[in-house]
Amino acid sequence: MKMQDLSGKIAVITGASSGIGEATARLLVDEGVHVVLVARRVERLQALAAELGDSATVEGLDVADSAAVAAMFARIKERFGGIDLLFNNAGIGISSTFEDSDPADWKTMIDANLYGVLNCTQAAIPLMRGREGAMISSVSSVGGRFGAATWSVYSATKFAVVGFHDALRKELGEEGIRVSVLEPGAVWSEFGENVSEAIHERRLQLDALQSADVAQALVFAFAQPANVLIQEILMRPVKQIIP
Ligand code: NDP
Repeated sequence: MKMQDLSGKIAVITGASSGIGEATARLLVDEGVHVVLVARRVERLQALAAELGDSATVEGLDVADSAAVAAMFARIKERFGGIDLLFNNAGIGISSTFEDSDPADWKTMIDANLYGVLNCTQAAIPLMRGREGAMISSVSSVGGRFGAATWSVYSATKFAVVGFHDALRKELGEEGIRVSVLEPGAVWSEFGENVSEAIHERRLQLDALQSADVAQALVFAFAQPANVLIQEILMRPVKQIIP
């Protein structure tokens, strides 16, 4: 299969301290990419960076903090000049029926899943101009295409990411900046609050995806020729027929 050489590219990965983000960091480094690892749990990022060596930089912050995000992209510009990939992967899911849900949890999810994407994307766009094959990819979800009971607010944030991307693609396409969205179904990771037992059972039943499967889809999209946009990847365990 013909893929582009990614060596020397610079990628910012949010939510790199576990799951899909961590797996993506490993795969991109294998392909010769320098990765900027972003999340709140700095010690996790440092442990990963220690494994990845000179190919990784650690940035401990909350993606919902717009000032911290802007300061990070200013540092990245200073050090690297620009970036080739923004992988907006940081996110959180708190399960509850809507009637019983806590508004504080709505805010936590909207802050991370939506404001995080907006903050990082707005700060990243100027750093991507003029870089061949630059790509913004955000992780939505199967829950960003279909609703599921007990995930209403999570689903609202992920639908928002899909709508945001469809508009952003139309703003940036002519400049050659690729805007791509990933919509995974059930994945084995640390994802999911309030549901640890249930989610574990469901993942077993569905033979859930591994984080590395999702990472592979991201790298496949990024490694296409610069004129090729993989606009959307909806992927799920084959046994996950609902939703
Ligand atoms: P994990 O819980 O393993 O990873 C989530 C990552 O997001 C962690 O690195 C966490 O780091 C980071 N994160 C969360 N909130 C913030 C924040 N406010 N600021 C910075 N980083 C943050 O789960 P996944 O790997 O599964 O999740 C990755 C993405 O995939 C999420 O967007 C999720 O919604 C999506 N997804 C997951 C599915 C699944 O079944 N697992 C299915 C479909 C989509 P830290 O806590 O250190 O900040």
